[in-house]
Amino acid sequence: MLKDKDRIFQNLYNDIGSDLESAMSMGDWIDTKKICSKGRDWIINEIKASELRGRGGAGFPTGLKWSFVPKEVGSRPHYLVINADESEPGTCKDRDILRFEPHKLIEGCLISAFAVNARKCYIYIRGEYFKEGQKLQKAIDEAYEKKLIGKNASDTGWDLDIYLHYGAGAYICGEETALLESLEGKKGQPRLKPPFPALIGLYGCPTIINNVETIAIVPTILKRGSKWFSSLGKPKNRGSKIFCISGDVNSPCNVEEEMGIPLKDLIEKHAGGVIGGWENLKAVIPGGSSMPLLSKKACDTINMDFDSLVQQKSGLGTAGVVVISKDQDIIKCMARIARFYKHESCGQCTPCREGTGWMWRMLERMAKGEASRDEIDMLMDVTKQIEGHTICAFGEGSAWPVQGLLRNFKKEIVKRNNFDPLIDKNKNIPYLVDQHLLEKENA
Ligand code: SF4
Repeated sequence: MLKDKDRIFQNLYNDIGSDLESAMSMGDWIDTKKICSKGRDWIINEIKASELRGRGGAGFPTGLKWSFVPKEVGSRPHYLVINADESEPGTCKDRDILRFEPHKLIEGCLISAFAVNARKCYIYIRGEYFKEGQKLQKAIDEAYEKKLIGKNASDTGWDLDIYLHYGAGAYICGEETALLESLEGKKGQPRLKPPFPALIGLYGCPTIINNVETIAIVPTILKRGSKWFSSLGKPKNRGSKIFCISGDVNSPCNVEEEMGIPLKDLIEKHAGGVIGGWENLKAVIPGGSSMPLLSKKACDTINMDFDSLVQQKSGLGTAGVVVISKDQDIIKCMARIARFYKHESCGQCTPCREGTGWMWRMLERMAKGEASRDEIDMLMDVTKQIEGHTICAFGEGSAWPVQGLLRNFKKEIVKRNNFDPLIDKNKNIPYLVDQHLLEKENA
């Protein structure tokens, strides 16, 4: 469990206040000049040494990403872009940073922009976060007024301008290259990579794109030291993280906890436990809707960090934990998620554009008990046709939840749709999925 003294976000529940004075009382904007005076290399090396991994979902090492930007500014300016397009279902951590801890983010923007030689920073916020955007803009204005940003920001000798840009509600604009397209005023569709944004990003210039939470924790790491940050969590999964716990729990909440905390502790100690008790748990989506769900058995022992979840064929993603109890219809839940992905596909790649619709329709039929036997194998096949065959990771994000359902709840689909356990009488198609398991059950 994270100790109070190690907590980075002290105003996550707005107990203190989000204005500049309150932020300063929590240590924000203290020593900013001192940190920048240590130089770019020192900052990047400290962030590398802290082993901070991006908090947006992919978990890429932040310091390493920053080091990909050219060391010197050539003919093209550098940009820093903050991804505040938080749209992953089950995730609302950046929202609380934007409205309750905006100065941590703005200070992080200055230090990070200085480290990557950027004099302009764009914060791309989802359009639905209108009120959060207003609060953030108020904090930006306060920072300008006190000369914390702008010309000679915080007396560092560095000029930094921050612009807030509202998205128009497309989930895919949370994908970094689609975000850049949207910021440039084009249709928000992902770009092919390489080239990566660190070399060719916004307006074709070197650009670093980081998530809100990642940048908001940078100042604290540099003030308290990389050793302190890397003393928390587990090897390769260091520090603390905001977890969002929702679904069938007694007290849904956002909470900052140490990486690697057992999922059971997270749910029982912070979210008041599963409605109906732990034994009423059916499954958990551990990292936002694009991550495969975990069965109850896995939830009993799993730790919440990048690597432990990958071992269980899932992922930490955004750490949006969605708890599903036995009172829910799991097939219907996943059909609903599939509908979301069908709706949000940008349509550039055929497997994603067509496959997301196929998956949704098949899952709807399965939820109603109207699917044909061969559709289970076909559904898995469709997920495999999408996975790895698309321009961006949205393809995997739409296919993995369905794979998770098939891995863990195939028997439920079979039962709901009244399939003959071994042979489809109408089509005479041998039923391959888990056949040996069902044979055993029938014996
Ligand atoms: Fe668009 Fe889907 Fe292709 Fe991503 S995978 S580029 S969302 S069609």
